[in-house]
Amino acid sequence: MKQALDLIMETAPWLVYIITFLFGVAVGSFLNVCIYRIPKHESIVTVPSHCMSCGKKLHWYELIPLFSWLALRGKCHGCKAKISAQYPVIEAANGLLCVLTLFVKGLSVDMVLTAALGSVLLVISIIDARTKEIPFPLVIAVGVLGAIRLVFYHEHWLNSILGAVVMGALFLIIIVVTGGKALGGGDFKLVIAAGLFVGLKNCVIALFLASFFGSVIHLTLMKVKKMGRELAFGPYLSFGFFTVALWGDKLFDFYLNIIGIK
Ligand SMILES: [Zn+2]
Repeated sequence: MKQALDLIMETAPWLVYIITFLFGVAVGSFLNVCIYRIPKHESIVTVPSHCMSCGKKLHWYELIPLFSWLALRGKCHGCKAKISAQYPVIEAANGLLCVLTLFVKGLSVDMVLTAALGSVLLVISIIDARTKEIPFPLVIAVGVLGAIRLVFYHEHWLNSILGAVVMGALFLIIIVVTGGKALGGGDFKLVIAAGLFVGLKNCVIALFLASFFGSVIHLTLMKVKKMGRELAFGPYLSFGFFTVALWGDKLFDFYLNIIGIK
């Protein structure tokens, strides 16, 4: 299969990039549905798409990702209520996320799994930032992607299992020591699932990135926007884990260089 994929990539790389972007955008509009409905415990499949203000059911031509929002100029056709810019932003972001993953990984199983991980982490980040909660079904999705990756790349099984176990143990200790003030149960479950996906080596870098950017950005937000002390760690963990899923090995070598081991 690898040869076939390489051949496609060599023959028409631009076509693969365009299809990947459009696919990412289409998945992005499903991600929007997840972002709005999962916190409200609404079904993400059975309820048809509707305007959030007047409840008008949307026609197929109002549901074309990116294009519809631009064509309707961000307003509902029925009631003229503003449609959140979140829709096109998430769609475009997920399209770019898929293209970036293709650029780094090439056309491969790893690319598909990594892009899917990025999409789920995007949903987790936004829901956690808004509600301070990480819905369990999304954590399960991350864990399932990790398990599938293990099936395809089973030579790394020990690193993966250790990633999940060590991350779980570490976060459990932090939660017990701090009395659950610093981190929540959602973070605990997320690092186990994501640890399985990226493996132990990458977890070290992911945690470093998450804590570094988490503290810098959160302290800035507390100062500038007078935000509360409470930190939604999910977005930073997601950023860290997706970054290492893309560039883990390179970052690990870089890290070893810095601390002088290599
Ligand atoms: Zn409406």
